[in-house]
Amino acid sequence: MSFTPPERIGLYGGAFDPPHTAHHALAACAIQQLQLDVLYVIPTGDAWHKSRTLTPAHHRLAMAKLHFGDLPLAVVDDRELLRQGPSYTIDSLRELADAHPKAGLFLLMGADQAQRFETWKDWMQIAELAQLAVAPRETGDSSGALPYEWHNHGLIRATLLNMPLANVSATDIRSGLEQGSGPAHTLKPSVLQYIQHHHLYMDRHDRSL
Ligand code: ATP
Repeated sequence: MSFTPPERIGLYGGAFDPPHTAHHALAACAIQQLQLDVLYVIPTGDAWHKSRTLTPAHHRLAMAKLHFGDLPLAVVDDRELLRQGPSYTIDSLRELADAHPKAGLFLLMGADQAQRFETWKDWMQIAELAQLAVAPRETGDSSGALPYEWHNHGLIRATLLNMPLANVSATDIRSGLEQGSGPAHTLKPSVLQYIQHHHLYMDRHDRSL
């Protein structure tokens, strides 16, 4: 009888508004380091923790497909965009756990999200269902590593992704695009073309880049 090892499934949620090079580096690093069989990249619907209005879902979905499309094990998944009401990671994680009861689940995030993880809805259930994999990110009050207290309370299984710090944010990209000086090197050419074609992020000055 042959033994099939349990699947290793990653979940990577984000606004991806727009998706940038650090998102891609994080996904690629996690697939390799965690030896994932599949990584679900899940653009958030109505993200409860973002104060601004996000770019319409169909644009963010299309950009995510262009952006992550070259990673063979990454699947861009629209489940949160189809869900009514606020978007919660726990709901997607429960769905994946139900569909793959024997799988090992890994939840990917940057250190900025890790710092506030304990404010997430049902974070203890999330921590029971999934191991966390955290990418280093400068957060202002830390060097971007795992939150210190996680080492002590033992509730959270977490790994630090072994990737360099990347000083990139969607906020900076959006404001660069608005001002007509978009940091194009942090966007894939196909995503930049999509943005230009649909005149996204240029509402203050409608100009080409
Ligand atoms: P915004 O600037 O609009 O808040 P963002 O650049 O943080 O956006 P999100 O789509 O909110 O991008 O991020 C999705 C996930 O990717 C989050 O877990 C976030 O922590 C992580 N992430 C984003 N950028 C980086 C980065 N430069 N380094 C490490 N992780 C990142």
